[in-house]
Amino acid sequence: MDERRFRESDLVRWIRGESPANDTVLVGIGDDAALVRNPSASTLITTDMLIEGVHFDLASASPREVGWKAMARNVSDIAAMGGRSTVAVAAAALPRGFAERDGQAIVRGLLDCADAFGVRLVGGDLAATPGPLVLTVTLLGDTGGRPPVLRSGARVGDALLVTGTLGGSLLGRHLRFTPRQAEGLLLAERYAPHAMIDISDGLARDLHHILEESRVGARLQADHLPISDDARRAAAASGRSALDHALGDGEDYELLFTLDPPVAARLLAEQPLDVPLTQIGIITASGTTLVLPDGTERPLDPTGWEHTA
Ligand SMILES: [Mg+2]
Repeated sequence: MDERRFRESDLVRWIRGESPANDTVLVGIGDDAALVRNPSASTLITTDMLIEGVHFDLASASPREVGWKAMARNVSDIAAMGGRSTVAVAAAALPRGFAERDGQAIVRGLLDCADAFGVRLVGGDLAATPGPLVLTVTLLGDTGGRPPVLRSGARVGDALLVTGTLGGSLLGRHLRFTPRQAEGLLLAERYAPHAMIDISDGLARDLHHILEESRVGARLQADHLPISDDARRAAAASGRSALDHALGDGEDYELLFTLDPPVAARLLAEQPLDVPLTQIGIITASGTTLVLPDGTERPLDPTGWEHTA
């Protein structure tokens, strides 16, 4: 077992060897700043921080999973704008005495995710801290000249759709999820979504973000929701319904978006993605309604429906 404590210079040298310069990265790790070529005139930028004890726990998440997740959450945000992630910097505050092996595992996770989605890690910062582990990734992205897909574009009458299945991600999927970059790009290129968001806070809450920004309402069909097997397993343990888990659980990292109804019909007929696509409702003028399987209608609170039922 490697008992060595992390040394910044060793870790940076190792990361540098793992991230060679290329066509996009004119100056990479090792100088005072990186220099990158912008694919387009405008650039998407996002940042996200993971804090031990707040967002993850090293008793249940491996350092490699923490690294993956820190990068993947940012890739998911760029994907939700209809963009492709390009270049990242990462900053880590590692607890004093943190093992070098664990520091490398975090970077390995960051780089695994970066490689999987075509991202170049071009720089960062490492420091020792008396506090918990903090890992921050800042990511640039590109829409290929298209306008970004905003939260504010939903229109009354739009179909409301979601990728994948929902709920129960805390059983483990939240540490190993696949950000929907390919899906977001394909949707933006071929189907022109009016509004889009990635589901990080839970379907009900993230839907409310779209509705607030677009100043519209929605009508959701409970029996159309793609409820995951994990949501059913979580329900068996929690005593809440699988539906409530699908509506309220966070960290699914699926895409929630709205389309013109004829475009939605074409998309659903074509099913061009490797993940399921489901229409779960429509955009209305105001209010948020959940239609239960028996036809009863309930107002849908951002936290799910059992809290208000
Ligand atoms: Mg987001």
